[in-house]
This record gives sequence, C-alpha cells and structure tokens, in this order.
Amino acid sequence: MPVVDYERYCEMLDRARSGRFAYPAINVTSLTTANAVLKGLADSESDGIIQVSTGGAAFASGSAIKSMTLGAISIAEHVHRVADRYPINVALHTDHCQANKLKEFVLPLVEETERRRARGLPNLFNSHMFDGSALPLDENLDVAVQLLERFRKDDLILEIETGVVGGEEDGVSASSTAKLYTTPADTLEVARRMNAVRGARYLLAATFGNVHGVYKPGHVRLRPSILKDCQDAVAKAFGEVARFYLVFHGGSGSDLHDIHEALDYGVVKMNIDTDMQYAFTRAIADQCFKHYDGVLRVDGDVGNNKTYGPRTYLSLAENAMADRVKEAVGVLRATGTTMANLVGKH
Ligand SMILES: [Zn+2]
Repeated sequence: MPVVDYERYCEMLDRARSGRFAYPAINVTSLTTANAVLKGLADSESDGIIQVSTGGAAFASGSAIKSMTLGAISIAEHVHRVADRYPINVALHTDHCQANKLKEFVLPLVEETERRRARGLPNLFNSHMFDGSALPLDENLDVAVQLLERFRKDDLILEIETGVVGGEEDGVSASSTAKLYTTPADTLEVARRMNAVRGARYLLAATFGNVHGVYKPGHVRLRPSILKDCQDAVAKAFGEVARFYLVFHGGSGSDLHDIHEALDYGVVKMNIDTDMQYAFTRAIADQCFKHYDGVLRVDGDVGNNKTYGPRTYLSLAENAMADRVKEAVGVLRATGTTMANLVGKH
C-alpha cells in the first residue's frame, strides 16, 4: 500500500485505541533497515510506523554530509517509492526533536511537505515529534500549540512528551533527578491547551518510569497505572472525547504485563529502537564469527567474496530485524490487524 494519508493514519490510530493494540514505531537509519521494517510488518499482516531520529537522519545523509534534513528526506522518499509493494499500511514519523533542533530538523521537513502539497504530492512525513520534555510544562506547551496550529493546516499529526524519559538517546540523557512520572495535573494542562486547537490531532508520550535503552531487570520501574489515572482525569474534566492517544517511549526490555497494561490504557504507538539495533547487528556478528576465514583474508588467503560481500551479511541482518519486528507486532497485539485487508469492504 502507498504510505498512508492523514485520514488513513487517523483511522489506524482510532482502530488501535479501540482495539487495544499498538503499532510498533521503529527507528531506521538506512534503506536496509527501512526494508526490514516493511518486511516484518508484511510478514505479520500489521500496519506500522517507520521513524527517523535526528542522529539516524544525519547518518543516512552520509558521513561527509551529516544533514539531518537531507537524510530524513532520503529515507522517506525511499519508503514512498517501495511501500506500495507491501500489503500493509505504513506511516512515516520523525522521532525526538528538542526545541533547539526544530529549525534544522522538523521545520525544514514541514516546509518540504508544504512544497509537496503545493505540487499536489502527498506529505513527506505523516507526523513529527517535538520533545519539549526538558522544558517547564508551560513552555513545552507554548511551542507545541504553535506547531499544532501549523500542523493542522498541513494534515500532520504532532507527538509531544511530558515528564522525562530516563536513560540516553542520541546523546541526550536525563539527569537522575528528572521527573520520570507524569502527573494527571500535567496531562489536564496538556488537554486544556492542545484541545483548544480544534480539529488538530496529536499523540502524547506521557512518561510512567520509562527509560531509553535497555537495562537489566530491576532497573526500570514502570507504573502503567499512571496512564490510567491521567486518562480518567482528562475524561472526567473534558469528556470521553478528550482521552489521549498515548505513545510508549523507552519500552525496550519491559515486562509483557506492563506493556499490555499500557495498551489497555490507550497506548497506540510504541517506539522500538534498541532491540532492533541488536537484532540487526546480532545477525552480522553471527556471520562474521562463523565464517571469519571467509570474511577476513587470513594468513595471505583471499577470503570469500560470497561471505564478505555486504549484500550477504546485510540480507541476514535485514531478515533478522524483520523477524524482530514480527515479534514486536505480536507483543503489541497487532498481528493480523492490517487495514489493508479491509480495502473494498468500506
Ligand atoms: Zn521520549
């Protein structure tokens, strides 16, 4: 299917929340990793989200260029070109963008979408995240509301974050005193400010003890019930219609029970990066360790081009990552849920 448009993306999110499942939102940094996600989604008959971080985008543009805008555009254009060969729906999203990076990442990508729309082309990305979680809440929301007003005109969905996710991602790490748990009072303020932008859509990453990266058991103390408290508070204050579409950040290594509880409370998108990185590299390491005398030219020998040719080990990595995507889809209760099967049944 082609990359979804706004209406179809909204439909995806609505179906996930009412069906109590979530889409994996998987970080990619290259053609190969993007292809792995598409394959994994297709293999599990699930729709999903491909996302690009600032660091991943800079990498994708090439080490001599290091342009996050250019890299993000390149990956998105690739996905637009190949997505219709896969029998599932995919949305394109950009991951964490702090306020000081908006001018070099999200805003140029929004401008690119606006140029495309003026030429009658589909949006480049379907949604973008603004991460103002390091700012005081009122400043976070000032920027978010401004973005949301522009996004509404462009049929873009905005993702925001309140509270601070622990750990480190793309060189940004939370301090040990950071606020790891969002409060119902915070989210009431989010709803009050954001819902005033009528007809716009946003996703909320509300932290409940999440930590970026993977840590040994015991390090992460998730409290998904915080999400329920936030939803109940907002429904009571502003009506059922105000319930959030939640995003789960920093979920690598979480207990299945915690993940499922979070889905029950309205999580529709779960970011998955670290576990995918490991699945990809694990396959390459396996190939190199098992066939070291083919990958390397040992003792004056010539090695084996079938082994050291990048296509060989990158194909293995692509397939291993696709399998990991399939596993993630299963955990998120999304297997077999693709709307692509519903085409013509509307
Ligand atoms: Zn986050």
